[in-house]
Amino acid sequence: MLVAKTINELQNFLEKEKARGKKIAFVPTMGALHEGHLALFKKAGEVGDIKVASIFVNKTQFNDSRDFEKYPRQLESDLALLKNLQLDCVFAPDDSEIFPSESSFKILPNKFVDCLCGATRPGHFDGVALIITKLFNIVKPDIAILGQKDFQQLFIIKKLVRDFNFNVEILGHEILREKNGLAMSSRNQRLSETSKIKAAQIYQTLLAIKKDPKILPQKAEELLQNGFEKIDYLEIRDEENLALVKNFPSKNPARIFIAVYLDGVRLIDNMSL
Ligand code: AMP
Repeated sequence: MLVAKTINELQNFLEKEKARGKKIAFVPTMGALHEGHLALFKKAGEVGDIKVASIFVNKTQFNDSRDFEKYPRQLESDLALLKNLQLDCVFAPDDSEIFPSESSFKILPNKFVDCLCGATRPGHFDGVALIITKLFNIVKPDIAILGQKDFQQLFIIKKLVRDFNFNVEILGHEILREKNGLAMSSRNQRLSETSKIKAAQIYQTLLAIKKDPKILPQKAEELLQNGFEKIDYLEIRDEENLALVKNFPSKNPARIFIAVYLDGVRLIDNMSL
């Protein structure tokens, strides 16, 4: 497995593989890998010939500098895990390789960012759009695999690819969960053992609302009573345009979205209705 710290090293390797007609499947991550990520790598192996992961904690997508500082970083154990999974290549650049100097351009999504995580984390998707643009230009993958756990991110990246004509196919992967239903996330490491158990209520809430969307306000209230510190959103939105859905059954497929704080950690999840 090649561990490339520089764009040059990475491209030297990938260009040879591409010249041999190999299909590049790419999974961008911020590291602190868990089984949710592993499922994406497995999928990459099924759909491509060369499996490439990136590990880069992208400061431009953190609207809260404390969240950025506290974000778990464990490159050595991540690399050991990826080697076991027989990844072909990992791109793990330093900050200066990706952001060498002050940049002259911004990539600003102007739709689909005034709701959900876009509304509560201003600038977050600007940072996501920037890093994905850079990584797609650097890696030039044939296919990229992204998790539905970050549904709005997946949605916006599909629009980015279409609007800027990236020659890449985007595959969305279903959410991997702990046994108790908690969506796997690198941020779960920051939860106490008691909170990890309590956090399963997020999944239970989604299941209950799926059964009966009318009880959504009551379920939000229950979360706050049960010790969740804050709810950024608990909403049902149209999967095709992210508009709020108020009448059921809805015309288009709908999805329940949630972002809550527990132990000061922001947790997100979603489920199709
Ligand atoms: P991250 O390292 O959190 O930026 O995530 C990297 C990729 O893994 C993103 O496409 C996420 O949506 C995806 N991902 C993270 N957690 C999960 C999960 N529990 N199930 C499926 N995909 C996930």
